[in-house]
Amino acid sequence: MIIITAPSGAGKTTIVKHLKSNFPELEFSVSATTRPKRVGEKHGRDYYFLTRDKFIELIGEKAFLEWQEVYPGQFYGTLHSEVERITDRGKSILFDIDVQGAMNLKKEFQGKSMAIFIKPPSLQILMDRLRNRGSESNEQLRKRIIKLKEELSYESAFDRVLVNDDLSNALFEAENIVDEFLNS
Ligand code: 5GP
Repeated sequence: MIIITAPSGAGKTTIVKHLKSNFPELEFSVSATTRPKRVGEKHGRDYYFLTRDKFIELIGEKAFLEWQEVYPGQFYGTLHSEVERITDRGKSILFDIDVQGAMNLKKEFQGKSMAIFIKPPSLQILMDRLRNRGSESNEQLRKRIIKLKEELSYESAFDRVLVNDDLSNALFEAENIVDEFLNS
């Protein structure tokens, strides 16, 4: 299992997409979420888009391997059925997941996973990106920054840390790490 995680804004999505298209032996774990679908996203490919009620029902049925309220009121989780679907096909799993979820998966799959933490070039750059987006109130921004600092403090818990300062370098490095792991 390959687990990719990062504080939000560190540029993880591009790296995940790159790995998806370069390693046919990897299959992306499609998470369930209650957040609204964005333009271009497809149910079953990007996420399983669920209502909050359905998500809560599934929590009750213990259908999730892990789940988190990543943003206030927005739930994300990995379904047991998704992991089974991929392993049944004899493939390795690629997870794109928040830092807390990644810590939980790492515990679950000890010795069987490679967990990569994508780090932004600096906390200052990330904070500037968040501020410049201008999409959040001061209070929300303050909460995001506290979360960001907390997430960055977990760096040492992961197998590899990849600094995303130069994108082509980061893609190359990610590819090497995954290649080495899959062939070990
Ligand atoms: P986005 O809404 O931008 O697609 O994702 C927001 C955050 O939720 C990202 O950090 C993403 O990695 C994380 N995420 C996506 N799926 C899961 C999941 O199944 N579990 C957890 N814990 N986080 C997830």
